[in-house]
Amino acid sequence: MKEKNYRAELTGVFGDSVDGNPTGVMEEAAYEAKGLNYRYITMKVTKEDFEAAFNSVKAINMKGVNLTMPHKITVLDYLDELSPAAKIIGAVNTVVVREDGSLFGENTDGKGFVQALVNKGITVEDKDVAILGAGGAARAIAVECALSGASKVTIINRTLSKAEELAGVVASNTPAKAEAMQWEANMTIPAGTEILVQATNIGLHPDVDQVPDINFASVEAGSVAVDVVFNPAETGFLKKCEEQGAVSVNGLGMLACQGGLNFTLWTGVEAPLDVMEAKLREEFNL
Ligand code: NDP
Repeated sequence: MKEKNYRAELTGVFGDSVDGNPTGVMEEAAYEAKGLNYRYITMKVTKEDFEAAFNSVKAINMKGVNLTMPHKITVLDYLDELSPAAKIIGAVNTVVVREDGSLFGENTDGKGFVQALVNKGITVEDKDVAILGAGGAARAIAVECALSGASKVTIINRTLSKAEELAGVVASNTPAKAEAMQWEANMTIPAGTEILVQATNIGLHPDVDQVPDINFASVEAGSVAVDVVFNPAETGFLKKCEEQGAVSVNGLGMLACQGGLNFTLWTGVEAPLDVMEAKLREEFNL
């Protein structure tokens, strides 16, 4: 008889604050659906304790770990290898402990974004992409779109210097053209924008009535509007873009897809994306 194995494979997330991070329920639903004896633990790790906590990843034989604020950049100093995208983005949200013990860093936020579009039959190749915001999410999306063949990425941000820095990163590391724009009141979306991405916190629960200060009449019919905000799934931004004839893609798909990429990196198994997205909807009562 085969000996019983009472030891689960461990994954999880380190962050501070992290209590409101819903990734665990999604990953554990996926592990269960695939019959894998894996656990995903949500762990509070302060900046001061990062090194001690991160050293434990190998010590307790974890398969890998997600990093969220404030650790996504700090972790770079502790890794053996980075994916090309993570290197350019300069931040890692997923670490994989390989069989030989080496630590690989990936950034799945932007890849999840691109995959969520592909799952809807939309590609970024040869497209003009405009992004509202220049924070962590915008950075991962801008770089990944550019690496996936977008012809141009325009960064529109309230703080122009951040948009300029990000546009510079895209222009010098990818074949895409990149431009930075100051976010003015009632901002006109650049003509020819084929994919418009809302990558700020605007509209996030509980501020569900907030919409970005853009001239929605300048959103082109037939273009694609994507929101990174996933709670609520159908944001005011998406509704207003739909009124202009745009096709909308919500942030839940991106969240499920990046979770699915992490799942596969850690288990080697194809992720049950339908289970993961359904679990998120259930969790947010959507
Ligand atoms: P950051 O704090 O790094 O960046 C926030 C960005 O939003 C900045 O560019 C900031 O501009 C801009 N911003 C915030 N408020 C306003 C406002 N009122 N008007 C104009 N601009 C504003 O946040 P993240 O990039 O990490 O996260 C952004 C959102 O993305 C969050 O809601 C997060 O939950 C979501 N997200 C979703 C994911 C998914 O899978 N769906 C994955 C990752 C993140 P400025 O630079 O001028 O301050």
